[in-house]
Amino acid sequence: MNINKPSLVSLTAAATVASMNRGHEMAWEHPPVSATINNAECKFCGAWVQVNTSPAPNQIFIGGSSVAVNCKEEQINE
Ligand SMILES: [Zn+2]
Repeated sequence: MNINKPSLVSLTAAATVASMNRGHEMAWEHPPVSATINNAECKFCGAWVQVNTSPAPNQIFIGGSSVAVNCKEEQINE
């Protein structure tokens, strides 16, 4: 398989959008944890996400509760 390695910037953007779609507002570590990894936490509920441009076979590019569950503190305008 030939998959282009994603950049930390592109993974961060994708994780931010995926988290926003679940109502989270993510605060990223700044500066990033490393050249290949960064972490973020939701300002409202504490849900987390980690991005990794070089995941091990048992790891993933984007993983965490903020891309899996909706924000518990989400303010919904209906
Ligand atoms: Zn949240």
